[in-house]
Amino acid sequence: MVQLEKNASASAAWPTALRPKVSAFILYLGLKDKVPGLTHHNLPFARDWRQNFAEILDQPQWPSDPSLYVCAPSVTDPDVAPPGQETCSLVPTAPGLTATPQQLEELTTRIIAMLQEHMDIPNLSQRIVYQRVFWGRDFSERYNNFRGSALGLAHTIRQTAILRPSNKSKKLKNLFYVGANTNPGIGMPIQLISAEPLSNASSATSRRRI
Ligand SMILES: Cc1cc2nc3c(=O)[nH]c(=O)nc-3n(C[C@H](O)[C@H](O)[C@H](O)COP(=O)(O)OP(=O)(O)OC[C@H]3O[C@@H](n4cnc5c(N)ncnc54)[C@H](O)[C@@H]3O)c2cc1C
Repeated sequence: MVQLEKNASASAAWPTALRPKVSAFILYLGLKDKVPGLTHHNLPFARDWRQNFAEILDQPQWPSDPSLYVCAPSVTDPDVAPPGQETCSLVPTAPGLTATPQQLEELTTRIIAMLQEHMDIPNLSQRIVYQRVFWGRDFSERYNNFRGSALGLAHTIRQTAILRPSNKSKKLKNLFYVGANTNPGIGMPIQLISAEPLSNASSATSRRRI
């Protein structure tokens, strides 16, 4: 079916004209103690907002001064970390890029330093007991995501509504697509809407069989 349609998960075969939405560089950190003042959601923004967006959208490159999203679920849910310890992950917005292991290491070190400064966490690197990076290549290899995007096809005018890949196969009857790369688009609630045509079609088929 994938060969017939070149749709859904066959992302490597997709036309280069299609535009992916942003990727992400996610740093999962386990800290050995509690961080005073840390909240569940923390958003330290880039100093130069325009430059940050330019590096993501106009001239894709690793961000020089990224905006960070620091999520510390252990602040509100004690089950996600051992007692007295903290988990924390952060997602600097970044485009789907390539990187050598050394570049990834440099970026990780830079982000830990930024986190220490922006979030006011003294001696952060000494407090880390677990560390893992998940980035564009992982999104491609693990989830088959289109060009390392974290989210799927971008919502450009040419990739919206009837111009976005359809939920219904043009070639095979009763073949439907759901998910972020089809209509209406990206986001968990939107996936449920995207599943509606499939749900309606399968109930109609069941009704016909009765
Ligand atoms: C860091 C992050 C934060 C997000 N936060 C939010 C949020 O707060 N709110 C929100 O609404 N949305 C959020 N999203 C977006 C949301 O997660 C996605 O839009 C949604 O998960 C897309 O659902 P999907 O079913 O299309 O794809 P996925 O959830 O990616 O599921 C696709 C599945 O198909 C599997 N697969 C791929 N290829 C094959 C194959 N060939 N054979 C078998 N299996 C295959 C993959 O492994 C994967 O399990 C976030 C996304 C990310 C990455």
